[in-house]
Order: sequence, then structure tokens, then C-alpha cells
Amino acid sequence: MIHGVRPSNVTSDLVTESLQTLWPVTAILAWLWTAGVMLTAERHSTHAWVALALVLVTIGISHWLAPVRLWAAIAVYVAGLTAAITIFTTALGAAGLLYLYSLVVLIVALLMGDRATWYAALGCTALILVIGTRALGLAWPMLTAQIAMLWLTAFTAWLGSRRLLTALAWTLNMTREAQRNAQEAQDSRAQAQLALKSLDEAYVRLERTTEALMFAREAAEKAYRFKADFVANVSHELRTPLNLIIGFSEMMVMAPESYGGVGLPSPYRGDMMAIYRSAKHLSDLINDVLDLSQIEAGRMPMHREPADLAQIVREAADIVRGWAEARQLRLMVEIADALPLLRLDRTRIRQVLLNLLTNATRFTTAGWIRVQAHVVDRDAIVEVQDSGPGIPRENLSMAFEAFGQMGSDHAREGSGLGLAISHKFVELHGGRMWIHSEEGHGTTVGFAIPLPDGDRDVPPPALVRSPTTHDTPDRRTAVVCHKDARLQSLFERYVDGYQFIQVSDAAAADRMVRESDAVALIHDATEADCNEAPAGNLPAHVTSIECPLPSLWRLGGALGVTDFLAKPVTRDQLLRAVAQLAAPPKSVLIVDDDPDVVRLLSRILRTELPSCQVFEVFNGEKALEIARTRRPDLILLDLLMPGFSGYDLLRARAAEPDLAGTPVIIISARSLEQESAHIRGEVRIKRAAGFTATEMVQLVGAALSALTQSSPSLAAIDPPLPGTRPG
Ligand code: ADP
Repeated sequence: MIHGVRPSNVTSDLVTESLQTLWPVTAILAWLWTAGVMLTAERHSTHAWVALALVLVTIGISHWLAPVRLWAAIAVYVAGLTAAITIFTTALGAAGLLYLYSLVVLIVALLMGDRATWYAALGCTALILVIGTRALGLAWPMLTAQIAMLWLTAFTAWLGSRRLLTALAWTLNMTREAQRNAQEAQDSRAQAQLALKSLDEAYVRLERTTEALMFAREAAEKAYRFKADFVANVSHELRTPLNLIIGFSEMMVMAPESYGGVGLPSPYRGDMMAIYRSAKHLSDLINDVLDLSQIEAGRMPMHREPADLAQIVREAADIVRGWAEARQLRLMVEIADALPLLRLDRTRIRQVLLNLLTNATRFTTAGWIRVQAHVVDRDAIVEVQDSGPGIPRENLSMAFEAFGQMGSDHAREGSGLGLAISHKFVELHGGRMWIHSEEGHGTTVGFAIPLPDGDRDVPPPALVRSPTTHDTPDRRTAVVCHKDARLQSLFERYVDGYQFIQVSDAAAADRMVRESDAVALIHDATEADCNEAPAGNLPAHVTSIECPLPSLWRLGGALGVTDFLAKPVTRDQLLRAVAQLAAPPKSVLIVDDDPDVVRLLSRILRTELPSCQVFEVFNGEKALEIARTRRPDLILLDLLMPGFSGYDLLRARAAEPDLAGTPVIIISARSLEQESAHIRGEVRIKRAAGFTATEMVQLVGAALSALTQSSPSLAAIDPPLPGTRPG
């Protein structure tokens, strides 16, 4: 690579170099010549000295000029040389010296290029002619030979210099090219370095952003979880008094006879009805807020199973039909014939449909409501259309936002959460939701659920896993063998990356493990129908995890109770629990330290079972005394009471043979998981194929971290109520 040499300088450098060689050579030759001449022909010594001086002076001038004017330096040098030859030739009268002009032509060709060569040849020809004819009186043949010799030299020099110049030009071009390339390469390298630097910076910034995003995401998730816990706790606290309000107001409005036949005067009843409705609304609102926060925190379990969408649509329409007809609205249901089975969480999809239908009924004052269900491409589409007042265009964008009430003036009874929750439920099914509306021209709200992949057929229920929200092909399956169906959602809520299939007996477990290609079977050896779980017959790669599970049956078995109801207890729940007894109870002992709860339960029982004797007790000791003396057919027992608790009462009951048979229904403010927080028993993990050393170490590690880390307790989360939101 050539750096720092400009191509135009290359020729000058070469010429200068040649000139620098020619000067001393010329000077020495001239000197030798002069000496020779002086030795041989003394009479011409003056001319010889003049010629030598001329050569030396012109060389000196040329040397002085060369750095500033190269071409002038050459011209001076050539002129000096020519003049010296002319002087010599003329003085000596030697025709042979005329050949020296060829030397001049040669030097010009070497130093000045082809055009100058021809000019030099012409000049020298003229000189030969003049000197040859005038000074030397040469004959034409001799002159012709001299001139021919000169032109031959010129031609040869021209040829040689041409080659030289071509090579030089090529070299110059190459040098230029190489220099350009080098410059370009340098530029590109600089650019590449710049780009690399910015890339590095961008990468660092990206890394920082990713880190910040991760932190933000973690913080957001934490906030969501915190919010969900907070909402769960607050809603739990709110629901207890609220349920009392609902329970009492419901009794006053629906069963005034329970107040000794003294009905409320009608204005009071109207107000009581308003209290009842508002309390119900508040309760629905709490459920909605709870649902929303659970969805946001990713804790909303989805129990998707093969379901007939057409049937769900019909059921939902039937629920609102009476209401719609009462409002003189025509309800049309149009369902396409070939709706395939879909993987749905029926409760949630019914909840979505009920929300859309109740909205349509609520807001439409006259006209019709149409529900349509059909398949378009790879989606099942459901649309609810109404001829109602519509929604202002500017409000549509917040349709699916929480607390968005978009209507103009019409009823504002809703919470503004229905569409937001419905939207999220549809999304949890992998679907989408939309709303079209124009003020004065009705509203259409629809959703699409993707059809299952493959041939669109859903396998028959026995073979179907229960995929949850995050159902992905790489989620592995574990089978849970237990009667308590709540366990599936418990596991799904707390164990990531797996889907759980619940079966209720050993034979089904055996079949399901094989059909679902499960990696593990979880079973409870104390559970009657699962204690023979096919641990021994499991495929070699399936791990059997035997452990006591937190279930109602376990608690029932441990405490010897008939049922477990978590507060707030509704009338329906209580009556359903009582209905489990072999015969309707003739006497019931209600034990709770909250007198209001006792009064409500008592009122419900007295109204529904008028002949039943009810004992109301507010502490454990008194309860035990009544139990001993009055022998009630049923005890409704609160577990947590100051002093002698519900547990103490249960222990005392177990110890006394006379009381041991009395059925007990637990009414507890704490959830089942909380009540069964400490489960005694052992965990066994087995696999026919054995475990690798790594797996074994990881198992121990997982066990240790599960036992030592302060993970959130199961009890921290109040399981959301799968409820509907009729208007
Ligand atoms: P809400 O519990 O208040 O009904 P939604 O999220 O279901 O909450 O609905 C939000 C708002 O959207 C409603 O308050 C109402 O203003 C408007 N809206 C929803 N559906 C309809 C409809 N079919 N016709 C007119 N307005 C509607």
C-alpha cells in the first residue's frame, strides 16, 4: 500500500531521479572528453574549455531549478548539452561527432516524453543539416546517414519511452486505484467502527431497557398479586356484613311470615326491597372486582372442557327470556346447525353471554334482541344485537375498560365491569370480542372463540384433559386422584407449567394417566376410592406422588363433620347442606360468637323448617352443655370462637359416645384451605424407572425450598365465586 504519495508526483520523482543520475555522468564524460581533446588536439583546447564550462554551468543551473521548475531544469540541461555538442563538433570539424545529437534525442525521450522527443529530433536534424552543410561541408549520403541514425534513435527511444510510459501510467492507475481502495477501506472501517460502537451502545441500552422492563414487569405482577390479595381480603371482610344485610332484607321481603306473622307495612317493604336490591348489587360488584383482580393476577382458573356452545347460548337466553318478555322485548335466538364442540369453561362463557343479554335487555326499552351463533372460518362467533338506544361513538373505545359506563342517560345500575370481565374471559379462551353501536340504532356485541385445531373435532370427554388458560402444547399433564373436585383448581392456581386432570377413583386414574400421557399421578392414600391408586402398575416413566391433600373430605374425616360452609353463607347454601342429612332435623343447635350470624341462620331455618326447634348459642361451653342436655339433630358450628372454640367442641363431642353421632355442619369465616392448613401425613414419591442423581438432588432442593421459603399460603387467596351477574 502506498500512503502519502500523490500519483501525479510519481513521474516527477522518476524524472528527477534520472536527472540526478545524468548530471554527474554528463559532467564526468564532458570532463573526460575535454581532457582527451586537450591531450590530442591542443589547438582546440579553448573550445573544449568553453564547452566543458557550458556543460557544468547548465548542470549547475539545472540542479538549482530542478526542485522548483523541473521542466525548465531539463530544458536548461538539454540546451547546455546540445550547445556543448554543437561547439565541439563545429570546433573539431569531426563529422562523427554529429552522432552525439542522437544522445540528446535519447535523453529528451527519457526525460520529457514522446512529443518532446520528436521536437528534439527535428531540432537536432536542423542542427546536423546546418553544421553538416555549412561548417563541415558534408556530402548528402553522409548527412542522410547521420539524420537516419538520429531518427532511428528517436524512434527507438520513442518506442522505449512509450512502453515505459504505458507501464508508468498503468502503475499510476493501479496506485491511484489502490489508494482509492485503501481510502475507501479506511472510510468503511471507520464507519464500521462507528456502527459497531453505536451497536454496542444500543445493545447496552437494550440490555438496560430489558432489565428495567423486567423489573417493571415483576413490580407490576407483584402489584397485581398484591392487589388481588388485597381485594380478596377486603371483599371477604365486606361480604360478611353484606351477606347479613342481604339475608335479613331477603327474609323481610320474601318471608315476612317469619317475623311472627307481622308483615311490614307496604312503604317499609318497598324500602326494604330497595335495600335488598342495593345489597345484592353491591355483592355482585364485589364479585366482579374480585373476578377482575384474579384475572389480572393470572389466578383465574379456567376449566375448559368439550362443551356445546349452542346449548350454553340457549340456556343463557332462557334465563333472560322472562325478563325480556316482561319488558315487551322480542328475544330471537338463531343458532347455526353445525356448531362443533368447543373447549370452553361453560360457567365463564355463560357468564359472558348473560352479561351481554342482560345489558341488551336492560338498555332496550322497546323492540327486539337477537342472539346469533355460527361458524366463520376457524372461529365460532356469537353476537348479541339489540334495537336499543346505542352508545355514543366517542364512548365506544372504552367499552372494554373497567368502570366504563358509556350510555347517555339510561339506567346506571351496572358496575361498569361486565364488559371488561367478559372481554378478559373471552381472551382467556384465546378469542376476541368487539362492539358495534350507533346512537339511536342499537348495539351489537360479539365474540369469537377459535375452533380446536386439527379436524375441528374435540375428543370425547373421557379422553379430554382439562386445559386451563395457559394451555400450550408443551404443558405437561398430571392426574389428581381425589373426590374433591376443588383440588384441580387448587393445583392449577398454585402450580405453573402443568395442567391437572381430576379423576375420582383409582380405575379412572389408571386409564387417564395412560390416555393423557401424564408425567405424574398425585393421589391421597387416605382417600377411600384412590388409596388403591395404580402406583404399582403405572408406566415406568410416570411418577407417583402420594400425599395427603387438603380437602373437605379430609377435614370432614378428621373432624367428623357433614359439610363445610365458608362465610358468608347464603340461604341456598345452608338449605343444600341441611338437605344432605338423612332426615330433616327436628332440632338444630346454632353456635357462633357473632349474634347476627346466629340470628340470620336461625331465621332461615325457622322459616324453611317451621317445625324445627332452634337453639341459639354464642360460645363453645354453653353449646356443649346444650348439646349434652338437648341432644339436637344437627349442630351448625363456627370453628373460631374466643375461649372454648369449635375445635374444642368437636373434640369433646368425639370423646362422648352419646354426642359422637350428632351431625355437624361447619360454618367458618376461613376457607377450607385455611382450616386444613396443617395436614399430617407423609409425602412419597416413586417411579418405576427410578430417578437420576440430578433429579434426586433437584427433588430434595425443591422439597427444602418449599419447606423453608415463606411462600404465600394457600389461604391468602379467597377462591373466586363462579357466579353469574343477572341484571
Ligand atoms: P355494567 O355492569 O354497567 O352493565 P358493562 O361493562 O356491562 O357494565 O357495560 C358498560 C356500559 O356499556 C354500560 O353502563 C352501558 O352504558 C354500555 N352498554 C353495554 N351494553 C349496552 C347495550 N346493549 N346498549 C347500550 N349500552 C350498553
